[in-house]
Amino acid sequence: MQKEINTEKYLEYILDQTKKILAIDSPSGFTKKAADYVMNEYAALGYTPVQTVKGGVFCEIGGNTINNDALMMEAHIDTLGAMVCEINSNGYLKLSPIGGMNANNAEAENCRIYTREGKIYTGTFQLCDASVHVNGKFDEISRSYDTMEVVLDENVKTEDDTRALGIMPGDIVCFDPRTTITESGYIKSRFLDDKLSVGILLGFAKYVKEENMKLPRKVYHHITVYEEVGHGGAASIPVDVAEVLSVDMGCVGVGLSCTEHQVSICAKDSCGPYNYEVVSNLITAAKRQRLDFSVDVYPHYGSDADVALNAGYDVKHGLIGSGVYASHGYERSHKDGVLNTFLLLMEYLK
Ligand SMILES: [Zn+2]
Repeated sequence: MQKEINTEKYLEYILDQTKKILAIDSPSGFTKKAADYVMNEYAALGYTPVQTVKGGVFCEIGGNTINNDALMMEAHIDTLGAMVCEINSNGYLKLSPIGGMNANNAEAENCRIYTREGKIYTGTFQLCDASVHVNGKFDEISRSYDTMEVVLDENVKTEDDTRALGIMPGDIVCFDPRTTITESGYIKSRFLDDKLSVGILLGFAKYVKEENMKLPRKVYHHITVYEEVGHGGAASIPVDVAEVLSVDMGCVGVGLSCTEHQVSICAKDSCGPYNYEVVSNLITAAKRQRLDFSVDVYPHYGSDADVALNAGYDVKHGLIGSGVYASHGYERSHKDGVLNTFLLLMEYLK
């Protein structure tokens, strides 16, 4: 007889972990604190995670390898962000984006500036000359990293004032995630891509441990740290891995069928089709468990699993994730999508 799963308990844990991870700033290249947190969490669950040289978290979850058929699940903990590239003559900061955050999506957002000496300053990313009562061209100016700047919450008027604070080019800038979960189950935050999936993988690890789940093949988790800049999944794949499954945000938008309530199975993205057998097996597993899912083609997307193939690994690859709307902006998903993704991972491993 099949054991009843207390899914509510795992969903609660996933959301709790997601919130905690979202609260740790971690744009690509500045992920140590977030990675350390995840390391500790795997250890607290009873695993023995290791940190990769690049700074990712690698963890063996269980199962045995027969014929080198291990599965590696990946989610990325790095997010979009920015770096100070210039201090303007007014003392405000010109930014260079880290990853693909559209400037429109960052306008008027609060941010934190981390200096190399460990100080943290706050500010707001604004259009240069942002008062509508003063700037008659406010509407016409297209938003870009050239037309916008960080207004520091410090009394600075010149470049020297700002340098005197210890701020310099190369400092990391992190945008406020503004995480909130509504009564109706919607999860709203920047960087659900892909911290929501890191939460889901931790939930899976917790489930395997606490329910003593027998895995039919060896499973690894790799929490990568350079996905948003293109090389997160390019390293650290053990020789016995035959399949890499990215758990990353599912696309939601015009022309696609997925909603935030579903788990999205990606059949093809900008890098081409995912492994035919893997996609078919994911669909079969979702149908078997009567999950709410969609199969979609993502028009502008690449994943860590794609990167593994580009790096030369001989593996099969797949991509699933909870539906996320307004990606790379103020994103939104739903508890239902999270649960469907979690349940698909479990069913897929049966
Ligand atoms: Zn992502």
